[in-house]
Amino acid sequence: MHNQAPTTTFATYIKLYILTMSPQHFHTIIIGAGPAGLSCARILASSGKSVLVLEKNKKIGPKICAGGVTSSGLSQAIPERLVERQFPIQNVSSTFQKTRLVAKEPMVSTVNRENLGKWMAETALEAGATIKTGLAVKELTDTEVVTSQGRYSFEFLVGADGSNSIVRRFLKVPATKIGVGIHYHIPTSMPDMVWHLDPQRFNTGYCWIFPQARRTSVGAYSFRDDMSPKILKNRLHSWLEGLNIDYHGLQPKAANINFDYRGWRFKNIFLAGDAAGFASGLTGEGILPAIISAEEIAATILDANHRPSRLNKLIRNHNRHTRLLLLAGKNKFCCQLIMESLMLALKLKIIPFSTLEMAH
Ligand SMILES: Cc1cc2nc3c(=O)[nH]c(=O)nc-3n(C[C@H](O)[C@H](O)[C@H](O)COP(=O)(O)OP(=O)(O)OC[C@H]3O[C@@H](n4cnc5c(N)ncnc54)[C@H](O)[C@@H]3O)c2cc1C
Repeated sequence: MHNQAPTTTFATYIKLYILTMSPQHFHTIIIGAGPAGLSCARILASSGKSVLVLEKNKKIGPKICAGGVTSSGLSQAIPERLVERQFPIQNVSSTFQKTRLVAKEPMVSTVNRENLGKWMAETALEAGATIKTGLAVKELTDTEVVTSQGRYSFEFLVGADGSNSIVRRFLKVPATKIGVGIHYHIPTSMPDMVWHLDPQRFNTGYCWIFPQARRTSVGAYSFRDDMSPKILKNRLHSWLEGLNIDYHGLQPKAANINFDYRGWRFKNIFLAGDAAGFASGLTGEGILPAIISAEEIAATILDANHRPSRLNKLIRNHNRHTRLLLLAGKNKFCCQLIMESLMLALKLKIIPFSTLEMAH
């Protein structure tokens, strides 16, 4: 107790000092320097708006993520050097079926999130955005953001702060539909991209092998209501062991993926990416939804009459994915039937693989 008192007093003085300072003003403040925050910052700053991005981590980029992006989406919009591997062949299996989907062009590519984040930060800075790292936002009001280094006022606020968003909590928007992804980075680049839908093991979820240039993400995703993270990890282990993939001695990494979409525009405050719940509840894909939603938010901030057609399309796909997930989650039989029907439809090319993409 004796040691704590001076620290508390010092922290109280700092807080009082910050509160007496006049806030620095920005046209838009963006909380979070992930794909959503940095895309929004680049567009607003290149239109001459004063933009501040606040990121709690010291380094921009590292994120628990397999780095899979659809080739028709993100990998068209980033420099070629950021694409780690490209896959015209998708190996998809379920409990009873197995297929190789072959296309002329790559269907899915992989990126390294650290490299993607670094490039996105550079482009936002070049456009004129201010980025402050190592600065977690802990307090918000309708007009100001309070950090340990000062107060900042805004005309517009964008919550691009991921699945545990402080902006979403400030807006009192609940988030109850949450997925969880867990993966290992195996330190070699494995040959093939693999998706395994197995209701016996993963209920409505699935597991994957996503190779990058020098490493491979092997992991599993599930809706938290269907399976706890602990069971998901054990099931992933048993799948990896069956494939003789050695994960021993490696650190598993897990994170939540919010897909509980309940709106993106709240007067002068916006939610983008995972903060808004734009990731797919079915596949966990969230990078492209984060970018599309952020670009549409930036366009809306710049022009109140902007018609967000790409975002509306994303929301339609998002809702379709959620409906399918909830239907599959009703019972094991329903889930198995949906997964096997999906497999058959993919195999017979009744539906294209891109049906599973959020931005399609
Ligand atoms: C295991 C796993 C595998 C995945 N694989 C894929 C995949 O292959 N393809 C795909 O498309 N998606 C994948 N995803 C999902 C994807 O990572 C996310 O959907 C995506 O990163 C969302 O981007 P975002 O910008 O909305 O949020 P984030 O990338 O989470 O960025 C939010 C940022 O906000 C910062 N922040 C949070 N709170 C504060 C605060 N209070 N103050 C300041 N800063 C704050 C965070 O530090 C972070 O940098 C995966 C997720 C997991 C867990």
